[in-house]
Amino acid sequence: MKLPFERPLIKKIEAGIPSKFGMKPTLKPIDNIDGVPVSDLIEKYGSPLYVLSEQTIRETYREAKQAFETRYPKVQFAWSYKTNYLNAVCKIFHQEGSWAEVVSGMEYDKALQNGVKGSQIIFNGPSKSREDLVKAIDNDSLIHIDHFDELFLVLELAQTSAKKPKVAIRVNMDTGIYPKWDRFGFNYENGEAWEALNRIMLSGKLELVGLHTHIGTYIMTPDAYRVAATKLADLAYNVERKFKHNVRYIDMGGGFASKNTLKGAYHTGIDTSPTFEEYAEAISGALISSNLNPDQLPVLILETGRALIDDAGYILGTVIANKRLSDGRRSLIVDVGVNLLFTSFWYEHEIYPAKGETQFTEDTTIYGPLCMNIDVIRAAIDFPVLKQGDQFVIKRVGAYNTTQWMQFIHNRPAIVLIDENGESHIVREHETLDTLLENERLPEHLK
Ligand SMILES: *Cc1c(COP(=O)(O)O)cnc(C)c1O
Repeated sequence: MKLPFERPLIKKIEAGIPSKFGMKPTLKPIDNIDGVPVSDLIEKYGSPLYVLSEQTIRETYREAKQAFETRYPKVQFAWSYKTNYLNAVCKIFHQEGSWAEVVSGMEYDKALQNGVKGSQIIFNGPSKSREDLVKAIDNDSLIHIDHFDELFLVLELAQTSAKKPKVAIRVNMDTGIYPKWDRFGFNYENGEAWEALNRIMLSGKLELVGLHTHIGTYIMTPDAYRVAATKLADLAYNVERKFKHNVRYIDMGGGFASKNTLKGAYHTGIDTSPTFEEYAEAISGALISSNLNPDQLPVLILETGRALIDDAGYILGTVIANKRLSDGRRSLIVDVGVNLLFTSFWYEHEIYPAKGETQFTEDTTIYGPLCMNIDVIRAAIDFPVLKQGDQFVIKRVGAYNTTQWMQFIHNRPAIVLIDENGESHIVREHETLDTLLENERLPEHLK
C-alpha cells in the first residue's frame, strides 16, 4: 500500500520543560469506543456522532455510590436531569437506583414518563408554576422551595390540597467559594434560611422533609462541601431542638468536578480534580461529627450530574479541511462546532485522532463548521497533521452538551449508546429539515 504523504515542516523543539507531572504526553489515538471501531460507527450512523458508553455510566455511578456508602450509612443519589435528560441515560441511572432531580415542569413530566415514582422526584429550581406545584403536591414529590414567594404559594395551595405538601428549602451559604451562588435559595448567614424553616414549621400545613444546598458546579475544593454540610446539619439540629422534628434527609446537591480541564488551568483535570472519595470524606465527616441525633441520622442525598456522565460521552467527527492562517498557523476545519459542544466555552476538550498515522504534531487551531467567528473548538492544541476525511474523537462530553446544544445552521446529529455487550443502539435520531419545519407555520398570505 502506498504510504500517505506527509509534507515536511520546520518545528521548534521544546525539549526539557516537564511539569511536576512529567513530560507532556503524546496523543495516543482513540480508534474504538468500548471495542466498537470509530470508523464503523461513523460509517453506520454518519459524522458527526455522539456516542455514549453504558459501561462507563454504570461503572462511574457504582464508584461514586461506593465512595459514599462506605463512609455514611444512608445514601441516595438523584439523577440531575438537566445534565443529560436523554431517556436512555435517565433509565440507566434509575435502574442503578437513582431517583430523579428536576428543575422544570418539562423535566418533571419526563421523570414521571420514565417511571420514577412521584415520591422519588426532587423538584428544584427557581421557576415552578402553580400547575407544576399542584402536580408535585398530588404526587408526593419533594418540593425544594427556592424563595419566599414560592413558600407563600405552596402555603396557599396547601389550604385547598387534600395532601400535605412535602417540602425542603434550598439554602445558600458562604463556603469559601467565590463568587457565592446566592441567587438560589435562602441565605444561611443572614438568618433567612432559619426564618423560612420557622415559617414552615409554625404553619403546620407543610411537612418539612429535608434541607438542600447546591453550592456551585465544578467545585475543586472538597472542603467547601464540609463547610456546607456542617451548616445544613446545624440547621437540622436547630429544627430538631426547637420543634422536636427530624428532617428525613440532607441533600448536598451536585457540583463535583469532572476530569475535564478548565480553560486557563495549568494542569489537566485528570491530575487536579478531586476523587469521589475526597468529596465523600468531606461531606460524611461533617455529618457524622455534627450534633445530629445518631439514632435518626438523615439520609444523605446527592444530585451529582457532571461528574457521573462526562466521561461516558464522546463526539466522533471528521476533518473537513486543512487551512493555513495568514500568520502561518495551521488550522483544521472539522464538522463538530460549538453548536454541538457547548462546554467548549469552559473546557479545553481532549481531542484525539482516530488513527495513529503520524508522530508529527503542530500547533493547531481547530474550528467548527459554522459560519461564525466564535466557532472554535480548540484555540491552540499540539495536534497531528490530519487530512481531509480523517476522523477524530472528542472525549468527556457526556455532561450538558446534548441538553444545551443548539439547533443552528446544521441539523443535530444522532446519538448512539453502546451497551455492555458492545452493541450500538440509536437513542436519538439525527434531525432533518422536517424536524426543523415541524413547528413552523406559514401565514396564508405568504404561501
Ligand atoms: C445543575 C444542578 C445539579 C447538577 O450539578 P452538576 O454540577 O452537574 O453536578 C444538581 N442540583 C441542582 C439543584 C442543579 O441545579
